[in-house]
Amino acid sequence: MLRQLRPRSALFKQSPSRLLAAWESPRAYSIKADAATTQDIDPSKLSITKTTTPKDLVPQNELVFGRTFTDHMLSLEWTAKEGWLAPRITPYQNLSLDPASCVFHYAFECFEGMKAYKDSKGQIRLFRPKNNMERMNKSSARIALPTFDGAAMIQLISKFAALEERFIPSEKGYSLYLRPTMIGTQRTLGVGPPGSALLYVIASPVGPYYPTGFKAISLEATDYAVRAWPGGVGDKKLGANYAPCILPQLEAAKRGFHQNLWLFGEEEFITEVGTMNMFVAMKNKETGQKELLTAPLDGTILEGVTRDSVLSLAREKLVKEGWNIVERKVTMKELADAAAEGRLLEAFGAGTAAIVAPVRNISWKGKLVDCGLKPDEEAGEVALKMKDWIEARQYGDEEHEWSYVVPK
Ligand SMILES: *Cc1c(COP(=O)(O)O)cnc(C)c1O
Repeated sequence: MLRQLRPRSALFKQSPSRLLAAWESPRAYSIKADAATTQDIDPSKLSITKTTTPKDLVPQNELVFGRTFTDHMLSLEWTAKEGWLAPRITPYQNLSLDPASCVFHYAFECFEGMKAYKDSKGQIRLFRPKNNMERMNKSSARIALPTFDGAAMIQLISKFAALEERFIPSEKGYSLYLRPTMIGTQRTLGVGPPGSALLYVIASPVGPYYPTGFKAISLEATDYAVRAWPGGVGDKKLGANYAPCILPQLEAAKRGFHQNLWLFGEEEFITEVGTMNMFVAMKNKETGQKELLTAPLDGTILEGVTRDSVLSLAREKLVKEGWNIVERKVTMKELADAAAEGRLLEAFGAGTAAIVAPVRNISWKGKLVDCGLKPDEEAGEVALKMKDWIEARQYGDEEHEWSYVVPK
C-alpha cells in the first residue's frame, strides 16, 4: 500500500521487480555505495557562530534532567548526493522543517546519551565516547540513515563541549548531558531511505541523579507489554522504541512503582529495567558461589556503555573476590526463587543517567519479591562499588583509557 505513495521517486519509474529489489535487501548495499563516493564528516570545516544573548546559568540545586540547554548546538547536514556537509556550531535554536519531512511520519530518528565531566584540574572529559559513536552508527544504519566517522564526530563534540564549558559544574555528580540526534529530513511521504538527514548535538547541564544519596526503586514486572523482541530493534537507540513504553510506565506508576521490569516470552526472561540494563547478584543454587548476572546481547538488549563498564569492572575487580560474572538469560522465576531461598544479594539497573539504580523490590504475579536490601539500606555492595569505580574514571580521579580528555 505505502509503496504507492512514492510517485515522485526515481525508483517508481523502474519496473516493479526492480522496485521490489531496491526496496528490500539491496538497501544497505546502496547506502554503502553512497558512502564510498561522498564526503565524510570533516571537522576542519567547522564554522562557529557564537550567541549574542548568553543564557543565565540555572542554580546547581535547581537543575532538572533535560530541562535547560546550553547556548549553542552543533549541526551537520547530510545529503545522499554530497555526503556530510560542513559542520556548524550556532546559537541554540528551533529547527525549521517541512511538515512532510520523513522523521515526522516514519520515525527516522535515532539518538545517543553521553556526558561531559569536569575533572579536578578543570579539564573536560568524555566517557568512552567511541562506544556512543559506534552505537549511533549501528542505530542509524538500521533505519537507512547515514553513518559517519566516529572519531571526527568526537572531535566536533569536544569543540562543542569546550565552548559550553561554563555550563559544566565542577562538583562530583554534575555533568553536561550530551544528546547527539539524527533525523531524516527528506520531504516525502514515500516510504524509502531518506535522501537527506540532519545530525545535531544539544547539551543539558545535569545534577546528581540521587542528590541526597541512593534511593532504591520499586519495579513492576511487565508481561502484558513487550519492549523488544527477537529480530526487532530493541538493541538500537531509535526514538520509536521509547514512546510505546510510556503507557506501561504510567500504568506502573499508578500502582506505585518507579519503573517497568521488562519481561520477555513465556519463560519471562528479565531483559531491562525502564531504559537501563538490569543486573542481578545472587548465590548459585548448587555451588553457593556469588554471581553477577545480566542478559546477553541477543538483539533485544540495548548495548549499554554502563553495562559494558560494569561487566569489565566486575571481571577486573570482583572475580578475584570470588565472584562469577555471567551474561546469560535469567528468568523472573529464578530471581523470585533466589529471593525466597535467601540467595538474592541485590539487583540494580545500569545506565548513563544514574550509573546504577538499586532495586528494592519487584511486583510479580501479585507478590512483592524482595531484592535483598536491608530496610535501612538504599544500595547493595556491588552497586555502591560500581558507582564509585565508574565515577573515578569518568571524573579522571583514576586515569584510565575510558576517559577522553577534551583538548584545550
Ligand atoms: C540508553 C539505554 C540504556 C543504557 O545505555 P548507556 O549507554 O549505559 O547509557 C539501556 N537500555 C536502554 C533501553 C537504553 O535506551
